[in-house]
Amino acid sequence: MNNYQVTQWCRHFMEEAVAEGDLCIDATMGNGHDTCLLSRLAGSRGHVYAFDIQPQAVENTRRRLIQEHCPENYTLLCQSHTNLDTYVSPESVSLITFNFGYLPGGDHKLATSAKSSVLAIQKGLPLLKRGGRMVLCIYSGGDTGFEERDAILSFLKTLPSREYLVIKSDYYNRPNHPPIPVLILRL
Ligand code: SAM
Repeated sequence: MNNYQVTQWCRHFMEEAVAEGDLCIDATMGNGHDTCLLSRLAGSRGHVYAFDIQPQAVENTRRRLIQEHCPENYTLLCQSHTNLDTYVSPESVSLITFNFGYLPGGDHKLATSAKSSVLAIQKGLPLLKRGGRMVLCIYSGGDTGFEERDAILSFLKTLPSREYLVIKSDYYNRPNHPPIPVLILRL
C-alpha cells in the first residue's frame, strides 16, 4: 500500500481476501474501480455481481471493465444493493464491498441512505462464507450528514462477536469528519 486514502485502505483488504475462482459482490459500483479490481482478483473462473441504482454508473463501469481488459466474469445490475441476496446463496461469497456516498461527478442526491445501507449489510453478511470479508468505506458530514454513518455503526455494534469480527479504523488526527474504513470478518 503506497498511500492511505480510505479507498486504498479498503482495497488492501480485498486483495488479501479474494483468490482466483471466488465469488464477490460490489454493492456500490459507481465508476467501477472496485468492480474491476474484484474481476481481476476473481479471474475467469470466479464471478462478480455489482449493483448500482444509476444507469450512468453501470455504463461507466462496463466501459472501464472493457478498457482495462478485465475477464468477462461479471454481472452488472442496475438495482439497489438491497437485492443482493437474490443472486447468491448463503455462505458462498468471499468478499462484499460497500463504498457509500454518491457517484463522483454525478448527482449528490442519489447517494446511499441509512435505511437501505443497513438493510443491504444485514442481508449481505449471511452470504459470506466462513473467513469471508465485508469491507465498508463510510463517509459523513457534507452532503451525506451523519444519519447513515450512525445507523451503520449502531447496527455493526449489535453483531454477535462469536460470528463476526468487526474492526473499525480511524484517521485519528485528521480534522472534520474523516472517512471510516470498516472490515468485517465472518468467523
Ligand atoms: N466504488 C465505486 C467506484 O469504485 O467507483 C464508487 C461508489 S460511489 C462512492 C457510491 C455509489 O453508490 C453511487 O454510484 C450511487 O449511485 C450508489 N448507490 C446509491 N444508492 C444505492 C443503492 N441503494 N444500491 C446500490 N448502489 C447505490
